[in-house]
Amino acid sequence: MSDCLFCRIVSRQIPSQIVFEDDLALVFQDLNPQAPTHVLIIPKKHIPSLADAAEEDAALLGHLQRVAGRFAREHSLEKGFRVVTNSGRGAGQSVDHLHYHLLGGRAMTWPPG
Ligand code: 5GP
Ligand code: ZN
Repeated sequence: MSDCLFCRIVSRQIPSQIVFEDDLALVFQDLNPQAPTHVLIIPKKHIPSLADAAEEDAALLGHLQRVAGRFAREHSLEKGFRVVTNSGRGAGQSVDHLHYHLLGGRAMTWPPG
């Protein structure tokens, strides 16, 4: 989608600090990090939110989680990390392209705010 911020990051129309890429996924640094490690893991396919993911996206969703686990292993997050997606404005979603925040490098509290 040409008017979607994260689609524009995928197509390099908007610059970002990309840390991993494959055919299906992109991982890049969050512009406003909330932890020493804070990256966004997104599908290259435009899916507005988790609530919009379809049955045909099941393998893609699984792939994104494996990308998250591998990123954590390769970036010394053995003390722990958190993967979260905000779905909908009420949950704090501000960009309407599915993304998982991966946060690490500090202690996490529960419940999240
Ligand atoms: P949400 O609020 O939708 O869960 O998360 C959106 C995230 O995207 C926020 O953490 C915000 O800092 C990040 N973000 C917004 N605009 C940009 C951008 O242009 N580049 C990058 N790298 N991150 C962005
Ligand atoms: Zn998009």
